[in-house]
Amino acid sequence: MNKVAFVTGGTRGIGRQIVLTFAKAGYDIAINYREESEDLQTIKSEIEQLNVKCVQVKGDVSDFDMSEKMVKEIIDKMGKIDVLVNNAGITKDMLIMRMKSADFTDVINVNLVGTFNVTKNVIPYMMKQRDGRIINISSVVGISGNAGQTNYSSSKAGIIGFTKSLAKEVASRNILVNAVAPGFIETQMTDVLKDEVKEEISKTIPLKRMGNVQDVANVVKFLASEDSSYITGQVINVDGGMLM
Ligand code: NDP
Repeated sequence: MNKVAFVTGGTRGIGRQIVLTFAKAGYDIAINYREESEDLQTIKSEIEQLNVKCVQVKGDVSDFDMSEKMVKEIIDKMGKIDVLVNNAGITKDMLIMRMKSADFTDVINVNLVGTFNVTKNVIPYMMKQRDGRIINISSVVGISGNAGQTNYSSSKAGIIGFTKSLAKEVASRNILVNAVAPGFIETQMTDVLKDEVKEEISKTIPLKRMGNVQDVANVVKFLASEDSSYITGQVINVDGGMLM
């Protein structure tokens, strides 16, 4: 029986690559999405071509009831969840002088509260099966901070605290909880930056390039595998050496 990996925000960017990487490794896949889109259909057919199952569940992770419904639907259709990747995330960057209150709370609600909402609903099943992996996508700015991102970096720092606390709570049930902190990764999230800005940032990175989605997906796959069976409560930076 294949393992089942549930990835939030799995239709594009880093989440999409995580999903494809798991599917290639023989996992059945559950993807969460917000709206029907071409991306959603494409990823489903790409996954099914790899001869694994794909379930798609609609919902906004910042809504607790929707998160509960999504998890129940996956359990009904797949029977279990072995790996949860809390990947869904947004940015609403602005210096604090001009940041609206809603821009702060929206980012916290999706990135941090969303991670709680989905995890809270998955945990009972993992506790029962006495096995599970939870991988939370944080960010290097959750460690270093970043001007213009008080909302985003708070949410990502919160995810690190959440990861460590949960790791301590559930270790006795053989549930391992870790975070991945990407640096600058080429996706639609960073596409908003001008090319000159991207070049400037790349110069400051020891490996002299932005990361790609596979760089992150490889580490997530490792944290879901038996190769990482003695690692919990850790934050692994995938940032080309940006933060040392
Ligand atoms: P993208 O903007 O490309 O993708 C974000 C994904 O999250 C989309 O699938 C989006 O769905 C989904 N999503 C957003 N809000 C919600 C919500 N409320 N409920 C459910 N799904 C939602 O971002 P990336 O792929 O770049 O980022 C993925 C993760 O990696 C995020 O957590 C991000 O913070 C983190 N990260 C990214 C970095 C980067 O440089 N790119 C660096 C560090 C961390 P939809 O299509 O419906 O919008």
